[in-house]
Order: sequence, then C-alpha cells, then structure tokens
Amino acid sequence: MGCASVTLAWMVAVATPALEAQPAPTPFDVIVRGGSVIDGTGAARTRADVGIRAGRIAAVGLPADATAATVIDATGRIVAPGFIDVHTHADELADHPAAAHFARMGVTTVIAGNCGSSPVDVAAALGKIRTTGTAINFATFVGHNSVREAVMGTARRAPTADELTKMEGLVARAMADGAVGFSTGLQYVPGTYAETDEIVALAKVAAKSGGVYASHMRNEGTELEAAVAETLLIGERAGMAVQVSHLKVDAPSRWGASAKALALIDAARARGMRVMADQYLYDAASSNLGIRFPSWALEGGQPAINTRLDDEKTWARIKQEMHKLIRERGLENYSFARIANYPADPSMNGLTIPDVAQKLKGSKELDAQFETMRAMLRAGGASMVYQFMADDDITRILTHPMVSIASDSGLNTLGRGVPHPRGYGNAVRALGLYVREKRVITLEEAVRKMTSLPASQFGFTTRGTIAPGFAADLVIFDEATVTDRATYDKPHQYPDGLGDVLVNGIPVVTRGAQTTARPGQIVTSTR
Ligand SMILES: [Zn+2]
Repeated sequence: MGCASVTLAWMVAVATPALEAQPAPTPFDVIVRGGSVIDGTGAARTRADVGIRAGRIAAVGLPADATAATVIDATGRIVAPGFIDVHTHADELADHPAAAHFARMGVTTVIAGNCGSSPVDVAAALGKIRTTGTAINFATFVGHNSVREAVMGTARRAPTADELTKMEGLVARAMADGAVGFSTGLQYVPGTYAETDEIVALAKVAAKSGGVYASHMRNEGTELEAAVAETLLIGERAGMAVQVSHLKVDAPSRWGASAKALALIDAARARGMRVMADQYLYDAASSNLGIRFPSWALEGGQPAINTRLDDEKTWARIKQEMHKLIRERGLENYSFARIANYPADPSMNGLTIPDVAQKLKGSKELDAQFETMRAMLRAGGASMVYQFMADDDITRILTHPMVSIASDSGLNTLGRGVPHPRGYGNAVRALGLYVREKRVITLEEAVRKMTSLPASQFGFTTRGTIAPGFAADLVIFDEATVTDRATYDKPHQYPDGLGDVLVNGIPVVTRGAQTTARPGQIVTSTR
C-alpha cells in the first residue's frame, strides 16, 4: 500500500511539469465530425470523427478538443471512402476536368482505358491530366484494340511476328508509363479479330509489371460460359489477375446464366487465381450501333463498310446474320435498342429503332428496322442504349462478394445527347435502390464493393479504406435519402442525398454543389 503511494506521488511529481510543457495538439487541415464511419473493409459502422492532414487521413476517433481549419459536420450521415470506379471510359478526363457526374455520385477515382480502348501513349495522356488538374483521381489500362489498330489497322487476320513484337513493345511502354493493366474489348473491331494466343502474348507483357487483365469478353449472353472460360484461360496462361468487365447476361434466351458465370469464377478462385468482376446496376447496356452487325461487315473503316452496305447481295447476307443474332438472343426486333447519340441526325436521339423506322421509312416492320440500321451505319453509326438484361441476374451478380460496382461510363456533357443514366447514378443506385429499397446487400457491403475491394484488385494500397495513412478520399451521404435520379429518358440528373466529397483531403463537392478544386492525382499500382 505504502509502496504504491510512493510510486503515485513520484509519478505526479514528475509527470505534471511535462504535461504543462507539452504544446497544444497540432490542428488538422480538415475534421469530419459527428458521422458514422463505414471504413470500406466491410466492417460495421462506428461513430468516429476523422482528422485529415496533408491530403491523408491522420486519425480516426479524435479527442473532443481537436481543431482544424475546416470542420465538416457529418452528424446523422455516413462517412465512407470515396468510390473507386474500376470500369470507366473517362479517357478524356483532361477535357472534362470537373468530371461532375462522377464527383457528384461519390466517385473519387476512375480507371479508364477499358474495353480495349485507351491512349496508346499513356505517358502523354497522364501528362496532360497532370498539367490540366482534375477534380478526381485517374488510372488507366492500356487497351488491346488501340494497340492493335496502331500496328495493324482494322485488319481481320492474325498479326505477323513483326506486328506482334511491335504490339508487345507498345504494351510494355504503356505499363512502364503507369498503366494498371491490359484491357480487351473482344466484341469490338479490331480486337474481335484476335485469337486467344495473341491476347495471351500481350497480356504476358502487362503481367511482368503486375498488371491486371480486364476483359469486355467476346460474348455476354448466348456464349457467356465459353467467353468466361476464355477470359480465365488468358489470365491463367499469362499468370495475372483477371477482372471480368461489366458482368451481365445480355440475351433474354440466356437469363439466369449468371449463376454459371459466377460458378466458373469461383472455381478459378478455388484453384488460386485472383479473379474478380464488376457490374453496373441497370438492365440496359450501352454500346455502339455496329455491335449489332456481323463483325466481318465492319472491317476496313467507313468506306469499306459502305461498299458492303451498298452492295445488295452483301447487304442481304448482313441482314440475314443480324436477324439470326437477335433471334438467338430471344429477341423479336430492335425495340430494345434506343439511340443515345446519332451525330448525323441528333433529332433522333432518345428514340428506339422502331420509332426511327416509323419516322424514316414510314413503318415499324422488322425490315424497315433493318433498313434504318443500314442507313444509320452508313451515315457513321451511333452510340446506343440496349435494354436486354434481367434484374434477377443483376441481383445475383451483386450478391457475389468478389464483384465491384462500376459505372462503365464515359465523360458526359450536361444536357448533351441521351447517354446511359449510369454515368450520373450508378454508385448512388447501389446505396439507394439496392441497399435501402431492395435490401439486396448491406450498406457496409455496398461500400466495400466500391472501395477496398477494387483497391485490393489493383494494388491501390493507400486508397479505399478509412484508416490512418490512407489518402483522404471521402464521401459523406445521408443513407435515408441518397437516391439516383438519372433515367433512360432523362439521364442528365445528379443524385440526391450525397452532400460532400473530398479528394486527397480537398472538398470537391460541398453540400451537394461542386467546388472549383482540382486535387485529383494519377493513381498507379504498387504491384
Ligand atoms: Zn465494355
């Protein structure tokens, strides 16, 4: 007893002057106060204040007297890591530095260069983004189609040994310049003309730099299982992680096949492969008009395409194959196809192919629809929205723990065209429609699917989690009201309920309005 008292007295005598000499705690740059923190790992939310210093999270759980230059009141709201959108076509970020529709749905990092399409000179593209300054962070793949077109044009054949060497060189340089992986778009010209061996050879080059193989597969409906198998085979032979892009079942005749695709992914994971997928949460896809035509008809650029379309015999063959393609999918006509942007006649934007056929050909009959598509492709084609997925597949894919939520969106200009609504709503649709209303997954799981899960796949070791040392990319929203408002008819609508977004510690959205800040950084893999 006496001994303890002596010890205590000694401690008080020594410790008190030291405490008095200690300076006041260093203020933070920003404190996010009073919110419920969902840290991105899938763990249950906790009440904690978050302190930010020099663009990074400095502390989670602060003393009451902590101070900061900026205090964001998050009382009653969720504080989550900023969303990492692994599947975008935001290649032209330097031309749209505000990236408003991404920032306002909470996306703080985009990965561009998907579906085989990217700049070939990645160093120049990243340099332009650095020079311009952007609201959000950026990473990119190097795309197979772009590399192939640079070396071989749109030739429908295998590369020569020399051409393959040239393509390998372009992939190697892009990876050295900071690309996070190699993407394919095997339904698009010219990637669709490539055999598996060519893709493996190029993927191997990206694998040497720790890259991920991301694929818009050869088929997403009628031949879904074969396409998943090819994707996994490429990853296995190249020895690299695989990201199945925008996993879906795009043929009514195959609705339900998502179970088989997910089983193939599970089996590959069980044998040690690092395989993940991503999806957007809509029953319509977005693509070009040409994808509805047989790929052989698209070789050689617009003059060659038009020569085929103008030759009645060839057109008859094209039309026959187009008809076969929709019938195999379980579709009767093109009422599933709506125009997003038709540069030759923007007054058609928003109409379905039967509507356009009625306007141009005076009939909605199937033959008038074929003739309408012929005329549209002849005039340079269009970007399209295709409604042919089922919510059961979307839901099944969403419940799989290795599937991220990603928009597949390019950069939209407010009010221009009738683009797919996912660019304005996808991330928020997860939180509102699929968590709060449909209760398909928990809020913590939805956040994980847009933060730590994609970060782990791509080696972004300092993003996607709220923890000390991580980049201060944060999104603050009201779980009771967060709602996507963009629709197929009226896509240019920002979501509700998403108030504040920080990128590298700097607010880019404050109380629902975008700031002029451009704190985005180039993100590369640590692998
Ligand atoms: Zn794609």
